[in-house]
Amino acid sequence: MKRLGIIGGMSWESTAVYFRYLNEQVKAAVGPMNSAPLLLWNMDFAPLARLQAEGEWDELTELMCEAARALKAGGAEALVIATNTMHLMADAVQEAADLPLIHIADATAGAIRGAGVKKPLLLATRFTMEKDFYRLRVEEGASCRVIVPDEPYRSSIHGIIYNELVQGELKASSRETYLNVIRYYQREHSIDGVIFGCTEVGLLINQSMIDLPCFDTSAIHCDAAVAAILA
Ligand code: GLU
Repeated sequence: MKRLGIIGGMSWESTAVYFRYLNEQVKAAVGPMNSAPLLLWNMDFAPLARLQAEGEWDELTELMCEAARALKAGGAEALVIATNTMHLMADAVQEAADLPLIHIADATAGAIRGAGVKKPLLLATRFTMEKDFYRLRVEEGASCRVIVPDEPYRSSIHGIIYNELVQGELKASSRETYLNVIRYYQREHSIDGVIFGCTEVGLLINQSMIDLPCFDTSAIHCDAAVAAILA
């Protein structure tokens, strides 16, 4: 098996999901006492979230590259960035480590294409919803049109991620807010799928609550990572 380096901690609430999922999948594929060969660089998210809010993307890129180089030095043979938002600097991270990087948007696009979904709604941080790096990559990879929520939905989705989900708070009222946004876009904009484009969204809502195909980027990303570990 190949040793996977995870740049995580953004937040650790979703990195914990990655850790469990990767180990469970390797156990299922290889054997009941096997575990995934992993190296985890767990970022301290509070200062990073401040830098994100201030738009200090160059400084954030430097911190991410530092983590990638450390994982390579520790023996990682491939990398994942366990957050959608921080794929903004995926190219720089890959170059810094000179390792294959399993890109969350490519994995997600593959799943959307496979399901034949053409107009998925994107639930993510403001950065992932508003900047081009993610939406365009998914659209190109899946030949689909990604629907980004308008205001005030966008602010409310973003606020729930930073004020609650990354802090491990799961509120029934926020679950209802997310489901209401989905219902509104289903009714008024004929979306035919939902992208959980933030690795914490799957902690709050899941496929059983929604009558459209859902794409949980944490699980999809882990599936792609397991394929790389076992390749
Ligand atoms: N984990 C989230 C994501 O997938 C948000 C936290 C972050 O900004 O990295 O985008």
